[in-house]
Parts: sequence; structure tokens; C-alpha cells
Amino acid sequence: MNSTVASSSFASGLGQLPQDTYWAQFSEISKYNVSLNYFERMWLAWYTYMQNDVLATGIMSFVMHELVYFGRSLPWIIIDCMPWLNKYKIQNHKIPTAKEQWQCALLVLLSHFTVELPQIWLFHPMAQYFGLSTTVPFPSLPTMAMQLAIFFVLEDTWHYFSHRLMHEVPFLYKNIHKIHHQYSAPFGLAAEYASPIEVMLLGFGTVGCPILWCAVSGDLHILTMYVWIVLRLFQAIDAHSGYEFPWSLHHFLPFWAGADHHDLHHEKFVGNYSSSFRWWDLLLDTENSPEANKRRREAKIAKLKKQA
Ligand SMILES: [Zn+2]
Ligand SMILES: [Zn+2]
Repeated sequence: MNSTVASSSFASGLGQLPQDTYWAQFSEISKYNVSLNYFERMWLAWYTYMQNDVLATGIMSFVMHELVYFGRSLPWIIIDCMPWLNKYKIQNHKIPTAKEQWQCALLVLLSHFTVELPQIWLFHPMAQYFGLSTTVPFPSLPTMAMQLAIFFVLEDTWHYFSHRLMHEVPFLYKNIHKIHHQYSAPFGLAAEYASPIEVMLLGFGTVGCPILWCAVSGDLHILTMYVWIVLRLFQAIDAHSGYEFPWSLHHFLPFWAGADHHDLHHEKFVGNYSSSFRWWDLLLDTENSPEANKRRREAKIAKLKKQA
């Protein structure tokens, strides 16, 4: 508990007083913590330099989110400008215009500053309350990998049911989810183009599931949370990219959803409700694909023949 405070006092306990610059802090930390790796020393130097854990976590989280969101969207914007890659675009007659992308980016940015920033600021106190660790050394890779796999499964489940609910209750669709469906042919930047209520509702799957995991198991490092959020952002942006390549992940992991799965959801407005995996849509018969629709048609015909 209270782990960042522990890391700061751990640092000052070793005579590592706050320095004028971050890099002066880093070299001071490096003198006394030779057993820590480079990134662990950078991490410890950041918290010691900031001397304010809420601010340190808040700035780190917000900057990371912006860099990853726009950094990951950028290659898709560039790809949209390359006509020879159009053969990989799923709805290849609907290329987003520069104006559309710009308007979408501005709205997403506005939402990041007005809706997400205050929530990110609450993240550190909440993380401390539920006992997320911010100390060094970092957790081992197998621990991180196991927790990341659990978060992917939990988030996908939350996403499937809350997303489906927003489609099946007309009031929720009309007042909340309709905004996200403005683009029937999605593009990377449109991943977080949504109502603030939707951001909070679906965001619970991304932030709330790991926090619940920590409340139950008592074992979660904030770095694992960051890696998870980066991977989840990659998943969401790529699923909205509108591109299907022969090397897309679902060709190697058949249960992975990807753009192939989510693009159809935007085009048809029905089915394919999950985020990362295909199993909930398969299990509950909400899969929307030419093969699934053919299967359903054939089953219907077989049933009618049986009745006749
Ligand atoms: Zn939807
Ligand atoms: Zn979408």
C-alpha cells in the first residue's frame, strides 16, 4: 500500500534528495541503485524528481495516452494517402477525407482534455487505494504476461455485453452510441470518437477490470497497467483502421478479432460486438460475416424443410 510514497521515501532514505533537473536526479539515483536496470532507474528518478505522486502519475499517463493514440493513428493516416494500398482497404470506396480526419482528431482531442484528463488525474489516488504497486524493481515478464492475458479476456467480455446493450436498447443507442457510428467506414483516429458516457462505460473494461483484479489478488504494478493500456490502444486503433492485410493477426490467431471483425460492425451496425476476440460473438450467435450469415441462412432453410 502507498507504494509510490514508499518509492519516494525509499529514494530520499538513501540520501537521494530532489535535484534541479530530471537527469541530475537520474544520475543521483544511478549512483545508489546499481542493481536496478535503466528503465527502473528512470522510473524512480521521475517520482523522486516530481515529489508529487499524483502529478507524476497524471502527467505520465496523459502524455503516454496522447503519444500512443496519435502516434499509432499516424501510420493509418499515411496509408490512407497511398492509393496502391487501397486494395487492402475493406470498404475501399470509402477513403476518409483529410477534412473528416482533421475534424475527428479535433473532437477526440477535445474529449481527451475535457473528459479523460480529469479521470486520469483521479487514477493515482484510486490506484493507491486499491494497492497498485509503483515501486521498483518491476514485476517479472511472466507475471506481466499472465496478467495482460487476463485483462484482455476480461475487457473483451465487458466490452461485448455493454456494447451489445448499447445496440439493443434504442434509448442507449440513440443517446450514447450513435456518435461512435458516425463513420460507417472507420479509420484509426475514430477509435475513441464517442460520447463521454460511452468513454466512461467502455473505459471501465480497460481501467476497471485491472483495478478489480488488483483488489482481489493484491498483485498489480502500475507498469503492467501502462503496458496493458498501450496494447489496448493498439488493438482499438488497428480494429478501426479499415485495413485487412494477408499478414493481419487474425490469420495467425483465428480467435483474434481485428479490423476484419470490427469494420463490418461499422458497416452493418449489427453483430460483432466484442473488442479483441471472436468467441463471444460465435458463442452467442451475433457474428456478422459472410460465412456466419450463410450458416444462419442454411440452418433456417433446414428448419423450414423439417417443418414442411
Ligand atoms: Zn457499435
Ligand atoms: Zn468502433
